[in-house]
Amino acid sequence: MNEFDLGIRCRRLIAMTDSSNTPGEMVSENMFLGIRESNIAAIEPYTEELWGRCKKRIDANHHVVLPGLINTHTHLAMTLFRGFEDDVPFHQWLFERILPMENELVDPDFVRVGTMLGAAESLRNGVTTINDMYFYANEIAQVCEQAGIRACVAQVWSNFPLPENKTLGTGNIVQFTERFQSLLSNWSHHSRITPTLGPHAPYTCDDDLFRAVVALSDKTGAPIHVHLSETKFEVEESLKKFSKTPVKRLADLNVLKRGTLCAHAIHCDEIDTEILRESGASVAYNPDSNLKLGSGIAPITNYLKHGIPVGLGTDGAASNNSLSIFGAMNIGAKLQKLSQHDTTAMTAPQALHAATLGGARALGLSDRIGSLEVGKRADLICIDFDQPHLQPINDPVSHLVYSATGGDVTHVICDGHIKVKDRVLQGINTAELYGKAEQWRKTLYAKLSNMKS
Ligand SMILES: [Zn+2]
Repeated sequence: MNEFDLGIRCRRLIAMTDSSNTPGEMVSENMFLGIRESNIAAIEPYTEELWGRCKKRIDANHHVVLPGLINTHTHLAMTLFRGFEDDVPFHQWLFERILPMENELVDPDFVRVGTMLGAAESLRNGVTTINDMYFYANEIAQVCEQAGIRACVAQVWSNFPLPENKTLGTGNIVQFTERFQSLLSNWSHHSRITPTLGPHAPYTCDDDLFRAVVALSDKTGAPIHVHLSETKFEVEESLKKFSKTPVKRLADLNVLKRGTLCAHAIHCDEIDTEILRESGASVAYNPDSNLKLGSGIAPITNYLKHGIPVGLGTDGAASNNSLSIFGAMNIGAKLQKLSQHDTTAMTAPQALHAATLGGARALGLSDRIGSLEVGKRADLICIDFDQPHLQPINDPVSHLVYSATGGDVTHVICDGHIKVKDRVLQGINTAELYGKAEQWRKTLYAKLSNMKS
């Protein structure tokens, strides 16, 4: 008799498979989900016989079980900047505050502590996959592996001075290439880590850098992760300097293609949208960060109409200030309604789709994750609906988007492993972690007072 390593009794299950389109059709009741090793091995109506075949069990009898949430754009290590320099204009925030401080402060230990804090926050809030871009990519990959979260990890490229490379000029290309190749050789065969190429943004990378990235991507098949058209200023500067929008410039450099993830894509007109659609590139929608930095509202409704893959992201905790995909669903859907003056823009099912299967598609991982189907990786979460703010259960999908928070997640399973059990993180020493984060907070403020004096 086949046994399951883990069985979950699901009061309600939302599989997010393609055929489940309307809220009524999306929810199955009284189901059993069986996991063997890293994969989903069975999804069937619940029976005592199936329950009896499980080595471990989770009784999610008051819960909704759904695919693990996917954060398609973040910088986990920036959790250490949470609450630092809030309410500052975007270009001042980035060029006068964050980047100089990063150059002063960021080293491999900063990245290890910040990334672990971000991974802990993500898992605790139901996120099982993150798409990260930050310095010291090898350290990020190592920490994500240790935390047990699934991660796409980008080697950052930029002409701007970086903590890991303070020299400017074409020499960077050689060094960046070496670093990316080391990331690739260390992690390309790992089941949960995907190495990617991260040219930071059109305003921090010159054409030669982009060409080198594209050549490496074409040679290795590694996806590209880039910030794009985040502010009006970025677009205006690009038009002045290149007589092209950032989207047109990156398209001409062949940066935009299937597998390229564009974070933000806020200031894009119809021509840009058509270019994005034709290229096959994806968009990461980061509503909280875009609101907080006053960047604008991305035309997500239009992207969805054009069939452009859209995922949700949080961006870094310095511009959000949390890593909550529940928050992104809620705010993201409402912002689309506001900007369109249309209550039907970005519906609850569309928001939940962007947080799960849509995000998986945007990252090119939908063959493995994003929905609950036999044969896919066992990345899933249990949300406790036996709480005042989630009753009565008129529509579980609506509740997940408009009423639930990360605190409602009781269990998180990533790659078949239980990472959160009864709301408690497994395998991460949080007391020790918070102590290290506090040490870095003290170092940050010591550096800040040195910089000011
Ligand atoms: Zn970002």
